[in-house]
Amino acid sequence: MNIFVILKQTFDTEEKISIQDGKIAEDGVKFIINPYDEYAVEEALRQKEQLGGSVTVVSVGPARVAEALRTALAMGADEAILIQNDDSESDEFTISSLLAAYFRDQAFDVILGGYFSVDNGASQTAVRLARLLDIPHASAITHLQITSNQATVTRDAEGDTETIEIRLPALFTAQQGLNEPRYPSLPGIMKAKKKPFLTLEPKQLHGIEAEIAPKTVRTALSLPAERKSGRILLGTIQEQTVELVHLLRNEDKVI
Ligand SMILES: Cc1cc2nc3c(=O)[nH]c(=O)nc-3n(C[C@H](O)[C@H](O)[C@H](O)COP(=O)(O)OP(=O)(O)OC[C@H]3O[C@@H](n4cnc5c(N)ncnc54)[C@H](O)[C@@H]3O)c2cc1C
Repeated sequence: MNIFVILKQTFDTEEKISIQDGKIAEDGVKFIINPYDEYAVEEALRQKEQLGGSVTVVSVGPARVAEALRTALAMGADEAILIQNDDSESDEFTISSLLAAYFRDQAFDVILGGYFSVDNGASQTAVRLARLLDIPHASAITHLQITSNQATVTRDAEGDTETIEIRLPALFTAQQGLNEPRYPSLPGIMKAKKKPFLTLEPKQLHGIEAEIAPKTVRTALSLPAERKSGRILLGTIQEQTVELVHLLRNEDKVI
């Protein structure tokens, strides 16, 4: 079973985001594997443990992304591919086109990705990749069972649970609850240093002669409005009620 995971390196969800010159500042920021992609890596490893085969992790991004790929290798993936792309304005069209160009030269049974990235949150890249490769996909899966050339998945359909059958090769995106990702072990970290790690330039990819420049342009980026500090109303219940109604009507203008 040739299993691939497309993973993105994202900001640590604990990081405080700041904006400089219209872009998110990356100086001193801690990066992690996108949490949904960690579920994808874990699922790939579990499927390999049951069915045999190999797990390859693939990411598009700048050189710093190597750290996320090495973490996946330390978790147990067999091989990592970094498609080097330093353009921070890349959009889902560019990223999925680069990934598709890579996958067109690979023999794969299953591609796993995350339901969405916690920093940008487009939920597009994986689905676009499935479309470009002309393979079926199921998003937000919470269970995956593979039998020969067919998969049965349970997916989270906005709170309802849907079970579907899909013929392989296929692409799946992982929802929270799919599994509990393992931590890299110390021997895993040591072994990861010796595992195959390939860095590719976009021009080395087959069929990338076509236009892959972003199709969208971000024209503005702003942080959410700062939350006002809470206020404690004083006085009798009647006085507090009158004050509350006054504030809701005249300050927040919600009634
Ligand atoms: C601050 C910032 C700086 C960035 N700088 C760069 C840069 O220098 N170079 C660059 O190439 N991109 C960069 N990007 C990433 C790029 O903009 C996004 O990866 C791309 O537009 C995908 O959209 P998304 O993040 O909303 O992912 P979504 O579409 O929400 O992701 C869904 C799933 O698709 C897969 N996926 C998403 N992105 C990738 C990826 N890059 N590689 C492999 N799998 C992926 C993952 O499985 C993910 O869970 C940057 C993003 C941010 C927020």
